[in-house]
Amino acid sequence: MTTDLAKFAADNGVKYFMISFTDLFGGQRAKLVPAQAIADMQEDGAGFAGFATYLDMTPAHPDMLAVPDPSSVIQLPWKPEVAWVAGNCVMEGEDVAQAPRNVLRKLIDEAAAEGLRVKTGIEAEYFLLTPDGSQISDEFDTAAKPCYDQQAVMRRYDVVREICDYMLELGWGPYQNDHEDANGQFEMNWEFDDALKTADKHSFFKFMTKSVAEKHGFRATFMPKPIEGLTGNGCHAHISVWDMDGKTNVFATDPDDSSQTKELGLSDQGRYFLGGIMKHASALAAITNPTVNSYKRINAPRTTSGATWAPNTVTWTGNNRTHMVRVPGPGRFELRLPDGAVNPYLLQAVIIATGLSGIKSQADPGKRYDIDMYAEGHKVRGAPKLPLNMLDAIREFDKDKALKTAMGAEFSASYVKMKLQEWDSFVQHFSQWEKDNALDI
Ligand SMILES: [Mg+2]
Repeated sequence: MTTDLAKFAADNGVKYFMISFTDLFGGQRAKLVPAQAIADMQEDGAGFAGFATYLDMTPAHPDMLAVPDPSSVIQLPWKPEVAWVAGNCVMEGEDVAQAPRNVLRKLIDEAAAEGLRVKTGIEAEYFLLTPDGSQISDEFDTAAKPCYDQQAVMRRYDVVREICDYMLELGWGPYQNDHEDANGQFEMNWEFDDALKTADKHSFFKFMTKSVAEKHGFRATFMPKPIEGLTGNGCHAHISVWDMDGKTNVFATDPDDSSQTKELGLSDQGRYFLGGIMKHASALAAITNPTVNSYKRINAPRTTSGATWAPNTVTWTGNNRTHMVRVPGPGRFELRLPDGAVNPYLLQAVIIATGLSGIKSQADPGKRYDIDMYAEGHKVRGAPKLPLNMLDAIREFDKDKALKTAMGAEFSASYVKMKLQEWDSFVQHFSQWEKDNALDI
């Protein structure tokens, strides 16, 4: 593990470091620092005006410093003279409470205090579009059911291979790449890891995919629903929880313990963790589905491929992709709610926050529904519908005092405030739909 960035630069021929942090809206912000200056920056951090980003600060706030975490450093495989390093935001000697990486680090410490280590893998789907973002980049990619399309994935082999080669080089353990369910959509999978490592990799994957796509004359987007009528970009999270040495999966059942229900191979702790996620689902959507556009992916009408692959109701099941949570096998489960706009750090943070609260309160995940939710969802009684739009989600989050406390009071207040400002900006926007429906009234 890297501890000295100046030495890392000397050993690897790095000329510049990007000291990067992620704001509340998932934007990655960075300063390029020459290697000669990195030793001082590692001590003191790189200075930023917080107000210039989405961190709920004013122009009068003092300098915010992003102090690089050397253990996160990644040399850019496509430009090896530059290295990316995640920074932790600090102001006047204190962690900035609402900064997403700090929110996550605090929750990881809280899990550790309970002897738990949360590990996750994510599936960051993306589209390859034309450079102006108006349409998919491949004019031949028009099949009604394009998932796993062999010809279409090979037409974008140069992009997919380059990204996968880089992940191999970085030691992420990538293991499969495919054309996804929408025309122009792809997914690449790499191994699961500790929550903070996954969040850093998720951030870097977005940066890398956009950079490689640009190099090839395309535009990569993780936008939840970039094209009307096609399947959206999900960011499914596979979750398991381990003991502190990372050897024992505490979600897996102990065959000698007859006191546990062991439903679908989940231990009691796994069940309670899931129960926490189920209990707070409507509120956590404000984090996992953070944009106006997110709600065009969940609750969407059927797509041209036949299914949205996104949930609309707070339900769980076994190996069945029509629910919010799928338990594909023993010892882990998949949260299918998050979309491509999710903030990589807040995604992990909200999983840990809700899961830990579930363990503490021994939350019951409720009845399991082994039905096709897209065809038979109307048969489910009493399961909450997911929020229908961003405003409803933010209001649900704002009502959920326990979740707001678990995510941190300062973070929660800032997040609600800034998201409501975003909603105001959206409703002030005039659309063609309004004219189409009101012009002749
Ligand atoms: Mg997928």
